[in-house]
Amino acid sequence: MNTTESDGSQLILALSKGRIFDDTLPLLEAAGITVTENPETSRKLILNTNDPGVRVLIVRATDVPTYVQHGAADFGVAGKDVLLEHGGEGLYQPIDLHIAECRMSVAVNAGFDYETAVRQGARLRVATKFVNTARQHFASKGVHVDLIKLYGSMELAPLVGLSDAIVDVVSTGGTLRANNLVEVEKIMDISSRLVVNQAALKLKRERLQPILDAFQRASSKG
Ligand code: AMP
Repeated sequence: MNTTESDGSQLILALSKGRIFDDTLPLLEAAGITVTENPETSRKLILNTNDPGVRVLIVRATDVPTYVQHGAADFGVAGKDVLLEHGGEGLYQPIDLHIAECRMSVAVNAGFDYETAVRQGARLRVATKFVNTARQHFASKGVHVDLIKLYGSMELAPLVGLSDAIVDVVSTGGTLRANNLVEVEKIMDISSRLVVNQAALKLKRERLQPILDAFQRASSKG
């Protein structure tokens, strides 16, 4: 059977495909764990490792905190952007892994005078996936905003007049440039964190701690 229950002998790690999966592999290797299946070529959502006691769940990035919070995974890796939106309830966050680093920023159409709009107290329409972070940011600046929740392709919103601005994660800035958008304000730096289910930390400490230590050592090296 290919289902899994997080019993006492098994450790379940939740990861998302792409950058976080790729950047977590060397950390797992440092803990002596090799993932023996490739999520890009396999359609499997539960991957085996060389350690029969460790398996990896492939979930959407925004779902990682939920799997760990409810104990369906013992630990996981998620971006600070995702964790802030989730709220971090039921999660222990012991380590900043310094992977998938980027920043959360405000961007607008190249022709839009953001500074003046803010100074004049204009009410801004802001499209974003990160509504909690955006709400907090603009509230702290005293800027009135109407938030428009989107699930992807935020860059499109100002181009078609859906919003005046977006709040999104930016890495190289290439996506913004390609869509004639300009980054006008950095809200915060983002990196991915290891999150651990609070009950698992107590009940499976013996199994988890050496892995957490290896992650800590490997992530502070670079
Ligand atoms: P870039 O063009 O390099 O600035 O990358 C920006 C695009 O990639 C945006 O659409 C982001 O949603 C996505 N992106 C970049 N870095 C990350 C990251 N660390 N985590 C999640 N999404 C990212």
